[in-house]
Amino acid sequence: MPVQTSKPRFVKIAVPCPLYKTFDYRLPATFGDRAIQPGVRVRVPFGRQKLIGIVIEEVSSSDVPANKLKPVTAVLDENNLLGDDILKLLLWAARYYVHPLGDALQTALPVFLRSNDDATPALNEYWRLTQPATEEIQQSLKRAPKQQQLYQLLHAAAEKGLDTDALNARIENWRAPLRALLEKQLIESFTRPALLTSQNKSHKAPTLNDEQIEAIKNIEAHRKQHAVHVVNGITGSGKTEVYLALCEAMLADGKQILVLVPEIGLTPQLTQRFLERLNASIVILHSAMNDKQRYAAWHAAANGQARLVIGTRSSVFTPMPDLGLIIIDEEHDGSYKQQDGFRYNARDLAILRARNRNIPIVLGSATPSLESLNNINEQRYHAHFLKQRANKKPLPKIQLINLCSQKLYEGLADGLLAKIRQHLDAQGQVLLFINRRGFAPLLMCHDCGWTTSCQRCDAHMTFHKRRKQLHCHHCGSQRPAPENCDDCGSDNILAIGAGTERIEHFLQERFPQTQVSRIDRDSTRNKGTLQEKLDKAHSGESGILVGTQMLAKGHDFPNITLVCVLDTDQALFSADFRAAEHLAQLITQVSGRAGRAEKAGEVLIQTHHPDHPLLQTLLHSGYPAFAKAALQERAAAGLPPIHHLVLLRCESVNASAAPAFLQQAADLAKQIELKDIDLFGPIPAPMERRAGRYRHQIMLQSKQRKNLHRLLNWWVPQLQQLPAARKVRWSIDVDPYDTF
Ligand code: ADP
Ligand code: ZN
Ligand code: ZN
Repeated sequence: MPVQTSKPRFVKIAVPCPLYKTFDYRLPATFGDRAIQPGVRVRVPFGRQKLIGIVIEEVSSSDVPANKLKPVTAVLDENNLLGDDILKLLLWAARYYVHPLGDALQTALPVFLRSNDDATPALNEYWRLTQPATEEIQQSLKRAPKQQQLYQLLHAAAEKGLDTDALNARIENWRAPLRALLEKQLIESFTRPALLTSQNKSHKAPTLNDEQIEAIKNIEAHRKQHAVHVVNGITGSGKTEVYLALCEAMLADGKQILVLVPEIGLTPQLTQRFLERLNASIVILHSAMNDKQRYAAWHAAANGQARLVIGTRSSVFTPMPDLGLIIIDEEHDGSYKQQDGFRYNARDLAILRARNRNIPIVLGSATPSLESLNNINEQRYHAHFLKQRANKKPLPKIQLINLCSQKLYEGLADGLLAKIRQHLDAQGQVLLFINRRGFAPLLMCHDCGWTTSCQRCDAHMTFHKRRKQLHCHHCGSQRPAPENCDDCGSDNILAIGAGTERIEHFLQERFPQTQVSRIDRDSTRNKGTLQEKLDKAHSGESGILVGTQMLAKGHDFPNITLVCVLDTDQALFSADFRAAEHLAQLITQVSGRAGRAEKAGEVLIQTHHPDHPLLQTLLHSGYPAFAKAALQERAAAGLPPIHHLVLLRCESVNASAAPAFLQQAADLAKQIELKDIDLFGPIPAPMERRAGRYRHQIMLQSKQRKNLHRLLNWWVPQLQQLPAARKVRWSIDVDPYDTF
């Protein structure tokens, strides 16, 4: 056989590691002269490991001497599994967020593909009829009722068939009759990914109101081209109906749809409504799925079998060849921003994805982010308003309760307790919000003033009474709650302040006839508990609900007549520049939860500062007026969305290493002309020590994003070279969500 001496081929590979560069490898000679696509996964030797990397491009030469170049061990895929548009999006995002490319790609890839060479998804087994059901067949099964029952079920399921889960839910002991039907060749097994479809399309759309029709018409008129549509509708105004109508039209056009939600576990109702109403194969991507299931769902979206994907933040990277529409529900929600590692914002990347594909994107919210409102003001986004509640309930009355010099019971004012009594007596349901889990934020010795501070953070440890434990909510440390003071040994220990657990406890004592239910992360940790608690809230069995922000999201409790927000003062004076925006969003969202058809609901807000301009604007003129004022404040303070921010965060075990690194970084930056950029720092983070590390940061501010990027492109490669960089952990956060 003639020996082929082909030219060596070189590829640039993004390897999952924290370095800001790609690595050159040789393609093995066995690969021949086949073309290699960017995006294809390869196994490569990397140090002592064999990692899965991604081909970025083939190049004709390498700067690395040929004898030093290692060969790719194996080319794993024939095609780019991510699809060209996702690869392009990620290349852009890694540059924009100034994040190592290999790590960014890794974040977007399903976990299954990060570790398995073979990209074949595990499929579910289903059964269906082999031929149309005839009278004759039905007759032949008369004497085998179990077989007949199973046959009927499979007949009803038609082409889609039923899998093990579906059969378990519908019929007992089905294995034996299934075998019998298989032997008679009346049924057959087949495999496909576990797509969600509902047989029961009993739920019809309500007759839409004029505002809904108008919004749908205006968005549909431009459904074949890119535009960002903000559906700004008050809680209960029927935004979801607008989404569903748009989805129906898109599905009929043969398009796929991506729906992003903040948190799936918290909004089972939304998912349920999509299933009940749309005639489409739907997949849901959520954290409760194992890696195989998640990958099978991802794969079904990538090959077009799934027509609609509902998922959280990272689903923005799901390949969808026929994508025609993206919907982002609760677009103002902070969970769209990843807060560690690859710090991308899924909302912003979704908008870019829609622009790259020339398709529309819908951002829905009762309280749009200041970012989106600013874009509407600048006429980059289109606004569609839904101002009436779909069920014509009147909007609730909002009142402030001045806490100054009032007698308080575990932080609750007399007037508030009287209102709770009044609403319960009138068969109403009451919802109380407090954004603090646990029994009390700290324990204190009454004799010497010792407090339960965390040894690893500049923070107190929260007392959880039921579990008799102290938890640090910042680093996760736990220890048994002490019975005596660590300093003086006194047993005179006080619980200072109140969290959900204490308020639940107090209200249960105060209203013994009423069931009080607490809904927070601690009380819903076990599988199924959240659903159980939500069900009891819906049925009215629980008369009082005490919860954290978890409860504010997307739930519709028809019987709630009184909503109380307990801790506003913290947010009014927070160091977090978004705190006021969050408070205004919370108050507006929860207000929408109060009130039923017969009578207006009430909202009570406790504060020591009833004259605070934010509260006054919000109460008297509503969220849009608040947002306008807040945008002016942000402009004056040089903050987003009017100005742009970048944080260089740094932390170290040694107290001086982080500030030393940042000082060198700042000196470096000042060597070049900082055109229209303000540099602040190094300064300690608002919570300087967390989880045993000292945290400091530099903040960069500019009116122009491109100025910041010009600096970053020059600065970040140099930062890596600084000797001080080896003693610290540092990261860049472009468009940070908070400055902590
Ligand atoms: P949002 O998403 O804006 O909070 P939803 O779409 O969930 O609002 O609608 C709130 C409730 O009102 C739902 O139960 C929904 O079925 C109902 N609804 C929505 N639009 C209409 C309408 N045009 N007529 C009657 N009921 C409606
Ligand atoms: Zn003491
Ligand atoms: Zn801690």
